[in-house]
Amino acid sequence: MRSERRRVRALLKGLGLPPHPTLAELHAAYEARFQRALRLIEQEVAPGEPTGRYEQYLTHDRIYYPKHTSRAHQLLVVCHELAHLLLGHLPRYDAIDPAVVRRVLGRSHYDDPTEHEAETIGTLLYQQLNLAPEVGPAAQLAPSLVHREGRHV
Ligand SMILES: [Zn+2]
Repeated sequence: MRSERRRVRALLKGLGLPPHPTLAELHAAYEARFQRALRLIEQEVAPGEPTGRYEQYLTHDRIYYPKHTSRAHQLLVVCHELAHLLLGHLPRYDAIDPAVVRRVLGRSHYDDPTEHEAETIGTLLYQQLNLAPEVGPAAQLAPSLVHREGRHV
């Protein structure tokens, strides 16, 4: 776990972030580094479906996180999916038109080594986050999550 923790700190440092960034800072740093918009999208999750997933389109990335759960769980899912993106994990689903979607990955395949890696790094990422309510311009960068502050949890 110690080397993974170092890896997460190095990831954050590589993005030009302090050791404990807010989600909005992490979001903004991701977009700046990869020159891609990242959309955080809340979705209804039926029992048995993956709680989160990410998709990479030609011009932007999307992370889906579950609607009916605590904010802590939502953030954990977002961090897990963000870990996949930051670690550059490879495509899973070949059935989707590769011209439209570059990479799609659900969160239910824990047997996969990339799932284990994303779970470890994502959880550590979550633990590093500054979870204080966000204020100022940065808060607008993750409005879908910030606006729900206080309504869920
Ligand atoms: Zn995953």
